[in-house]
This record gives sequence, C-alpha cells and structure tokens, in this order.
Amino acid sequence: MLQGTERTCISCRLKTSKDNLLRLVVVDDRLTFDSVKKLQGRGYYICPNISCINKCFDVTNKREMKQLINLKKIIKTKIEITTGQLRELHGLLIAEVTD
Ligand SMILES: [Zn+2]
Repeated sequence: MLQGTERTCISCRLKTSKDNLLRLVVVDDRLTFDSVKKLQGRGYYICPNISCINKCFDVTNKREMKQLINLKKIIKTKIEITTGQLRELHGLLIAEVTD
C-alpha cells in the first residue's frame, strides 16, 4: 500500500503518492508551481523528471502555441496563461529537478 493520497501525473498519467510528485496549482486563473505544496486552489501533479516536464511545458522553438493548447486541455480548470508564463513555469520546474 502506498502512503498518503494518490495523484495522477498530468504528463504520463502515472498514479502515485502525491509526495512523489511536484504540485501545480491554479490561483486566480493562473497556473503556478506550488513549491511548498500548500497553496489553496485546484492542484495538479507532475513527475519530478525532465521528460514529464518537457512533455507538458517544453517551450522551445515553435512548440509554444501547441503546448499552450495541450495544457489547456489537460488542466480542467479555466486558466489564463501566456507563452511567456509557460516559459517561466517550465524554467521553475526544470530548476526544481536539476538542483
Ligand atoms: Zn509523469
């Protein structure tokens, strides 16, 4: 039995304890990285590895718009997000797993 509450990675759909995942949260229609896993709002989870992060948030070259559209399909909550914010979020998540 896994300890704690199970959550699904938004990227690979793996189900695991939320302790093993990074948390994102929607606050005031903005998707942000919840580094303390305590922010109020609808939460989403992603594996702490580069492939899962890149699959959802990779913003290199001309993929930005495609990634935004994909992300809005995954995140069921209404969000306002620009390509600039997507880029920033990608940077924060990658920094978290490469530190
Ligand atoms: Zn994953």
